[in-house]
Amino acid sequence: MTDLQRLIRDVPDFPRPGIVFRDIAPLLRSHFAPTIEAMSGLLNEAEWSRIDAVAGVESRGFMLGAPLALRHGKGFVPIRKRGKLPPPVVEIPYQLEYGEGVLEMQPGQGRVLLIDDVLATGGTLRAAADLCGLAGYQVDCLAVLLDLNLVPGFRWQGIPARTVIRYP
Ligand code: AMP
Repeated sequence: MTDLQRLIRDVPDFPRPGIVFRDIAPLLRSHFAPTIEAMSGLLNEAEWSRIDAVAGVESRGFMLGAPLALRHGKGFVPIRKRGKLPPPVVEIPYQLEYGEGVLEMQPGQGRVLLIDDVLATGGTLRAAADLCGLAGYQVDCLAVLLDLNLVPGFRWQGIPARTVIRYP
């Protein structure tokens, strides 16, 4: 177990019975810089230089994606839940471990690194990556802080999801 993983709090039966919620708040509270550095290291310099922007999924993807974008001099593109972004927006329905919803994004272009906090079933990341394509972006890389390993070897269009912490 990495030092960073020790700071993630497991919360049983949240937000629904049967779900073990992996709470990254204590990790961000005490080890924000090392967490961002660890995520930064998921891409090499050549990969960082190729991307134009970091796209983050609301809301913990914002917490991780925005500092990564700043650290590397890239733009930040928000992917939000329905009804938060003003038009024009492109939307896509999605399912997650404990619910379903709609993700929205404003149209744009360029190569993006797509960021979220947790990869569980992969439904959110897959939908967000599809949405980037619908909005006009090209997804170069996918990265998460935690991969719960519910879908071992998760890939989207052949692109693997890189992670700092993979659960056994
Ligand atoms: P999924 O679409 O199933 O891969 O779920 C990923 C999304 O749901 C991420 O945006 C996470 O923030 C959230 N999520 C799903 N399962 C968990 C979990 N066990 N602990 C914390 N966050 C989770």
